[in-house]
Amino acid sequence: MWPRADGDWKCDLRRLPVQVRPLPGELVFSYLHRLGRANRTGTSLLLDHLGKGAPWMIDKHIHSYDLELNEHAFFRLSLLSGYYEDPLRRVLHVRRTRKGWPPAYAWHRFTHTENDLVRPCSHCAARYDIQALAMVKRASLLPVCLRHGRTLVPRTEPRAVDQSLHPTPEILTAWRRFTILRRRRRDTVTTAFEAASTITSDWTRSKSGRTDHIAERWRARAVLLPTVASDVIRSPETIALTTLFARHPELLRVPRMPSRGPTPMVFLAHAARYLDHPEPRRLLDQGSPLLRWTQGTDMPAWWWPNAHEPDRSIYSALKSNTIPVLHRSWAPRLGN
Ligand SMILES: [Zn+2]
Repeated sequence: MWPRADGDWKCDLRRLPVQVRPLPGELVFSYLHRLGRANRTGTSLLLDHLGKGAPWMIDKHIHSYDLELNEHAFFRLSLLSGYYEDPLRRVLHVRRTRKGWPPAYAWHRFTHTENDLVRPCSHCAARYDIQALAMVKRASLLPVCLRHGRTLVPRTEPRAVDQSLHPTPEILTAWRRFTILRRRRRDTVTTAFEAASTITSDWTRSKSGRTDHIAERWRARAVLLPTVASDVIRSPETIALTTLFARHPELLRVPRMPSRGPTPMVFLAHAARYLDHPEPRRLLDQGSPLLRWTQGTDMPAWWWPNAHEPDRSIYSALKSNTIPVLHRSWAPRLGN
């Protein structure tokens, strides 16, 4: 490495000749790296001009590190990029470091919990004329580009390539529905998605779930998409259950806990309908993931009296592989 000129950050800056459009959610280091490549300038030199900080080393890849900038360093990045600060800040995913003078940056090493960082899909990259590697914080809860119907590659798999989801249109349809659900149920959708993800993830591990029709669907999809992450394969069913939970947040005790709610049998009947389960009887199997969820210890207090008084007619209908006709909402049952 060549000796660093101390005080490059004191120089006046002007826009670099080649302007580089930032990707939505792009990490700062990824953007700086692309800016340097487009202008045939080293990342290290650009960093020296941004502010004070530890130098760039060859082992600092965009899939291992990001930059934290203070406000003065960010202002200098905006000068280099040719974009005003506010629009640039809105588009990039900016990490802040300590305030005050002088302009400064620090390195942020990713932790294993930062699993929402992905490479942009190859079609998005082509649209932005991206030649170099880039890293973005994904906007959706799963690694999917809905615009192009492709999977996104997580930062932890730098050599993997994104894949088309068009062989499984049900995944794309579910994700489009989920986009609408997120707009309509902002308060509950994230909690609902987490609960639904836990159930479908548990499904693949349970003995009863592995032989169920739903698991067969997942196996068939995995044959069509052999290298796609299992949470993407499971996503239509995860989103079906998310919709159920988001519409009935009393099951998750958000945002308010009513004094009464549905019986576990009513819940299972709704779940069978949302999943379009051809064999609802299987939901009653001991060890089935949904039945196990209804027996969880952190269920609301009103659940337990209901759990001990199963609705026999619904139970009989499910047992005979029929989904009983239910009201779309069990809301009338709530309250005193
Ligand atoms: Zn895309």
